[in-house]
Amino acid sequence: MADVTAPAYRIIPIIPALKPGAMEGKGPFVASDKINEAIGFPGQLVEDWHDKAIAKMGELLSKYRSLKVYMDACVHCGACSDKCHYFIGTQDPKNMPVARQDLMRSVYRRYFTLPGKLFPKLVGARDLTREVLDEWYNYFNQCSECRRCSVFCPYGIDTAEVTMAAREILDSVGYGQKYSNEIIGKVHKIGNNLGLPPPALIDTLEGLEEDVKDATGIDVKFPIDVKGAEVLLITPSADFFAEPHIDSLIGYAKVFHATGTSWTLSSMSSEAGNFGMFIGNYDQLRAIAMRIRQAALELGVKRIVVGECGHAWRVAYSFWNTLTGVGDGADANDRFAQMLQKQLDHRYKQPAHICEFTWDMIQDERLSFDKSQNDKYVITFHDSCNVARGSRMGDFAGGQFEIPRNIIKAVANNFVEMDPRTTREQTFCCGGGGGLLTDDLIDLRVKGALPRMEVLQQVADEHGVNFMATICAICKAQFTKVMPIYGFDRRTVGGVHQLVSNAIILGDKK
Ligand code: SF4
Ligand code: SF4
Repeated sequence: MADVTAPAYRIIPIIPALKPGAMEGKGPFVASDKINEAIGFPGQLVEDWHDKAIAKMGELLSKYRSLKVYMDACVHCGACSDKCHYFIGTQDPKNMPVARQDLMRSVYRRYFTLPGKLFPKLVGARDLTREVLDEWYNYFNQCSECRRCSVFCPYGIDTAEVTMAAREILDSVGYGQKYSNEIIGKVHKIGNNLGLPPPALIDTLEGLEEDVKDATGIDVKFPIDVKGAEVLLITPSADFFAEPHIDSLIGYAKVFHATGTSWTLSSMSSEAGNFGMFIGNYDQLRAIAMRIRQAALELGVKRIVVGECGHAWRVAYSFWNTLTGVGDGADANDRFAQMLQKQLDHRYKQPAHICEFTWDMIQDERLSFDKSQNDKYVITFHDSCNVARGSRMGDFAGGQFEIPRNIIKAVANNFVEMDPRTTREQTFCCGGGGGLLTDDLIDLRVKGALPRMEVLQQVADEHGVNFMATICAICKAQFTKVMPIYGFDRRTVGGVHQLVSNAIILGDKK
């Protein structure tokens, strides 16, 4: 960490000067044989990788029509080029979204279009050489799949989907990324990204009950594996022990306690995160999501609520219905999906985000707060990419932006917005999303955080902002790491339910 420094803030956020090759060879560690094989991928680069990669690309192009459209539709207008935080922070032109797509588009043209087959040079088509494959590994692992660039593309081209396809192809030939694949292995084996076994989880929750009792005098429970509970809470495993995540877990528990809601965690399914999405692999995505269905069926719960985790909410909101049977659109031929449909209480939204749950309770006047408990903070809100651009909340457009803000305003007195060009659907990624939250990428992560840090500094200078709330475990982990490098206290970031926890009134004491 000592040799990692923050780039200088830009006086005016203009397109940065280009530094070709600045991030060449700076991709993440490659997964070992053991890590890849544990999740069913080839251990290392297979001998016939070229043919296999092209065949896989052909398969994805026919399976995902959007991918083919993205390959064909780009007119190189450049509207996306300066919209990526990794390009802004690293100045490497290959981190421009259009250039990232072109890494794949050039290969697509060579093998899947007639002009590319006949006149490759004329149409910018390239053979898939080992050099090109290495370039794919490097730069498709410098994209957090945040989708900010797609907001500015007149054709709606989504670089995140191109990145997912590239990673899927790389995994299929044994060229996977260590961090994501190792985490997926842990979920399959132990049940969560952190590899926290059930006894350790149970111990942690008991310790938390004691801590909250000491602090508030109230018996707030953190139940686990309770059959017949109404709500199953699926939350990122970082909530169980990482700071500041744990403060939000305490906040959820206090909300359930104060509203008299019976709830439970599951030791078998103790992870909301789903890195299957990051590597673009449907089978992994489904297998991870299935643990949640299994837990819900075994525990007989009526509602499923998801904790503060950005990409988990995207997976839950957008994919759980067809993957698992939670939500509308469950597979009519899937017996277990139908069982779950019958079991869940459809008077409630399934699944629901914890912010939706809490906001509903606030509106129903079932919670009260002492807002002055958050008076030490001037608060701003960082929209997390997967919530902002990959999901919704509530029953109105933009609910994913307004509901967390409404909660903050209900529990605290001082709230300030950051520059609107960097919030809501235009929010910047924290710099650690999409499977890049690993120390081997710390240089990229620090540089990628630049656009968010610039505007945070602005509101800190102008309004004294000293707390940035967010509803994503990755954002929290990323910011606690990079904020000190930008001169902020690591406790400047925290969860929305951390603020809820501070202000909620539980009986006589808080
Ligand atoms: S999806 Fe996000 S990280 Fe990837 S190229 Fe677009 S802006 Fe950059
Ligand atoms: S904005 Fe869209 S069309 Fe324009 S260069 Fe970027 S991806 Fe291509």
